[in-house]
Parts: sequence; structure tokens; C-alpha cells
Amino acid sequence: MLGYETVYENDRSDNELLAATKRDSLILLTSDEELYRTASIRGLESFLIQGRTEPERLANLARRYNLALKINPKDSRCPTCGSPIRETSKDEVEGAVPPATFKVYSTFWVCTNPNCAKVYWQGSHWKKIEQTLETAKKILDSKPNTPTGAK
Ligand SMILES: [Zn+2]
Repeated sequence: MLGYETVYENDRSDNELLAATKRDSLILLTSDEELYRTASIRGLESFLIQGRTEPERLANLARRYNLALKINPKDSRCPTCGSPIRETSKDEVEGAVPPATFKVYSTFWVCTNPNCAKVYWQGSHWKKIEQTLETAKKILDSKPNTPTGAK
């Protein structure tokens, strides 16, 4: 949703993940220390996700890669398939969203991938994500970037 191209795989073996990271020049994000170490030893870009809470983990990731913790729907990608999303007219989503949702919300986005075509709106899930981002930003502000020489 922050606009970064991501692939989420939780059913692949470590070797498959390492191979895909290398093949597609990806950054491997993992909370598995052993996998992180193996990736580092093999010279692959990898980041060990650490933190007690989701905002903490997000803040650590944002600090490392200087990510802007802001949702701009124009740059967002479909959380389901990773394709770009586009704002759509209300008429276009009638019947595709629950009637109560259609009544309450006026702005909708749709995934541009025709095989996915998921519809999004700023409902409770969206608000929860924005709260997570706000908390992560507060953590970032309270612990400013310290030079580590990693760059
Ligand atoms: Zn999609």
C-alpha cells in the first residue's frame, strides 16, 4: 500500500527464497535469523525484521530503507496481487462491494489486474493500517536515525 513492489511468500523453502532473491535482485525481508544470515553470507541484500509490535517492525524497516510511511493511493499497489490500483467511479463498483459499503463510501479504488480486480475503499481496515503507520512514525521520530556506516 505504500507503493513498494513486494512479493509475499510464506510457503516457500529457504532455498527457493534465496534463489528468487538472487534471480530477481530482490531485498529479502525476513524475521528468520538463520535465513537472514545465510542470505548475508551469500552476498544477498537482506534485512532482519525485528521488533515487538507491528509498528516497531515497520519503523525499523522504514529507518533502514528510508521509506516514507504514507499511503498515497496514486502510488499504492494492490495488497493482494501487487499490481497498480486506480481510482474508480462509484457506478463502476456497484454490485462489486457490499450494499452498505456502497452507501457509506464515495471513493473506491480497483486493482488494474483484470484477473484480480479487487475493489478497495477507506474502511476500518484502511484506518487500522493508517494507525499502524502513525505509531511507526512516532517511533521513528523518537529514535532518530543514527549513523551506522552501513551505507
Ligand atoms: Zn490485485
